[in-house]
Amino acid sequence: MTAPTAPLLGQMMDVPLLVSSLIAHAARHHGSAQIVSRRIEGDIHRYTYRECEARSKQLAQALIALGVEPGERVATLAWNGYRHMEAYFGVTGFGAVCHTVNPRLFPEQIAWIVNHADDRYVLFDTTFAALVDALAPQCPRVRGWIALCDEAHRPAMRTPVLCYETLLAVQDGVFDWPLLDERSASNLCYTSGTTGNPKGALYTHRSSVLHAYAASLPDSIALSARDALLPVVPMFHVNAWGIPHAAPLNGTKLVLPGKDLDGQSLYELMEAEGVTCSAGVPTVWLGLLTYMREAGVKFSTLNRTVIGGSACPPAMLRTYEDDYGVQVIHAWGMTEMSPLGTLAKLNWEQAQRPLAEQRALLEKQGRVIFGVDMKIVGDDGRELPWDGVAFGDLHVRGPWVIDRYYRQEAGTPLIDGWFPTGDVATIDPDGFLHITDRSKDVIKSGGEWISSIDLENIAVAHPAIAEAACIACAHPRWTERPLIVAVKKPGAQVSREELLAFFDGKVVKWWLPDDVVFVDELPHTATGKLQKLKLRERFRDHVLPTALAAAEQCPMEPLDLRTNDRDEGAGAADHVKSAALRD
Ligand code: AMP
Repeated sequence: MTAPTAPLLGQMMDVPLLVSSLIAHAARHHGSAQIVSRRIEGDIHRYTYRECEARSKQLAQALIALGVEPGERVATLAWNGYRHMEAYFGVTGFGAVCHTVNPRLFPEQIAWIVNHADDRYVLFDTTFAALVDALAPQCPRVRGWIALCDEAHRPAMRTPVLCYETLLAVQDGVFDWPLLDERSASNLCYTSGTTGNPKGALYTHRSSVLHAYAASLPDSIALSARDALLPVVPMFHVNAWGIPHAAPLNGTKLVLPGKDLDGQSLYELMEAEGVTCSAGVPTVWLGLLTYMREAGVKFSTLNRTVIGGSACPPAMLRTYEDDYGVQVIHAWGMTEMSPLGTLAKLNWEQAQRPLAEQRALLEKQGRVIFGVDMKIVGDDGRELPWDGVAFGDLHVRGPWVIDRYYRQEAGTPLIDGWFPTGDVATIDPDGFLHITDRSKDVIKSGGEWISSIDLENIAVAHPAIAEAACIACAHPRWTERPLIVAVKKPGAQVSREELLAFFDGKVVKWWLPDDVVFVDELPHTATGKLQKLKLRERFRDHVLPTALAAAEQCPMEPLDLRTNDRDEGAGAADHVKSAALRD
C-alpha cells in the first residue's frame, strides 16, 4: 500500500470573484456603453460605464471619509437610476454592504429593517424625503442620511441630511478597488415578510458574480453588448434580479426608468432608447399592455422580456407574443436565491413539437440554470417523481442560495442541505417546473389540493377580466373551496355566472370555483404580488352559495373528494396531494 498522495493542485490564478470587477470590466472594455436614466429631477441623464465607475470610486472615497468600515451596511431607498448604480459598486467595492431597502413597505417595517441591518448611512432619492423624516427618529443608530441630488435639489426636511453630489465633488476618484475575500458580504436584501418580520438574505461577492454569469447565459436572460436593457423590476427588489451586475458583465446598454412605471412612460422610454430587452413582474406588463391597446401602438425594438416574481398568466404571454411580437421568458426565483432559479426556454427537441405543446411548456416556470438544483418532496420528505402530476414542496440548493438568514445564525432553514422555498410545484419529465402555489395559499378541498394560480390564469384569460385572485373560502363540507375575486377591464361586462361558466371543461369538475366576487382593485404587496392574506381576511365571512346549500343538506361531515369526479375532465388534471399545508 502506498501512502495517500496530496491532491495535485491546479496552477491557475486565484483571482477572487468581486462585484467591483464587474464595473471595472465594463469601464475598461465597454467604456462608452451607455447608462440612461429618467431622473427624479424630470430630465433624461445619459453617461457611460466609464463615468459610472469613476463616480462609484468617488462614492467609495466619500463613504470611507465618513468613517464607514468594510463589513458595515449602507442602505439605499431609491428608484432605478444611475446614482443607485453607483451605490451598487461604490458601497460594495471597498467591502461595505449595499443594503437595498424597499421604499414601498410601511415606514414601521422599513425602520425595523434598517435597525435590524444596523445600517450606518442611508442614501435616498428625494421622492422619499417625507419618508426619511418619518424614519429618522425611529432609527437612532443611522449616522447620516444622504440625499441623492445636488445642492439645487436638496429637499426641505426636518432631518439634517448630507447632499450626495457635494460629497462626491470633493473626492478625486483616484482609488484602486481593494482585493477582498470573495466570500465577504456584498449585498443585503430583505424578504417582503407578508407574515412575521422580514428576513435578510446576505449575498457574497462570489455569489453575486456567479449569479451575474448565470443571468447572462443564452438560456437565461441572454444578455449581450448588443442589447439595450430596461429593468422595470426595481433595484430595491432582489437587486433587480441581478441586472445591475449582469449588465456591466456584458457591456449591455442600461435604461433605468426612475419612478414613472406607468404604461405610457415605459413605452416612450423603450421606444426612445431602442430597448431590446426588459424584465419585470406581471402587474407592470399588464399596465403596459393596457396603454398600448388604448393608444394603438406597437414596439419597434423590444424583442423579449423576462416576466417573474408572480405567475405570468398564459393569456398575457400569448398577447405579448402574438399581438406584439415580444418573446416572454417566464422565470421563477426568490430573494433567498439572488433570485434566479428557473427560466422557460425550449431546447432543440422541444422546439420541434406541435405549437400547443411548446406553449404549454413555455407557460411553466421552466428549467433550472446551471448552479441551481431543485427537487419536490412529499410529507415524508421523500423526493417526488418528475411526472408533471405529483406536487410537493419545492427545495433548492446552489452557490447563490442562502445558507441561513442574516442575524439568525443560530438556526438554519435548510433541510438536509436544501433550502425549502415555501412554494408548491410539479416538475415534468422535461424538467420544467410549474409553481402551483405558495404553500400557504393552496386551497385544501376535501383533503385534496387545488392550485389557486391555475384558476387565476383561467380567469384572466376571459376577455373581460383584467386581474383575478383565487383564495380559499370556508366550506362546511369540503373545508375550503375556491373563490375568485376579479377586476373587470375598464368598460367590460361579464356576470358572475358567465365567468363561472368560463371554467367549464378547462379544469376537473372539483376544481371549478364556487363563487365570483367583482372588486375595483386587488391589493398588492410592496413587490407587486397579490396580497392574498389581506383578501382572505376581507372575505373571511363570505358565504359561498354552495356552502349554504351544503349546510342545509349535510350539516356536518366533510367528504373525501377523491371519490368524486376525480377522473373527469382535462386541463389541470389529476393532481395528487403530496405535502401537508404549512403555515
Ligand atoms: P420574492 O422573494 O419577493 O422575490 O418572492 C419569491 C416568491 O415569489 C417565490 O417563492 C414564489 O412564491 C413567487 N414567484 C416568483 N416568481 C414566480 C413565478 N414565475 N410564478 C409563480 N410564483 C412566483
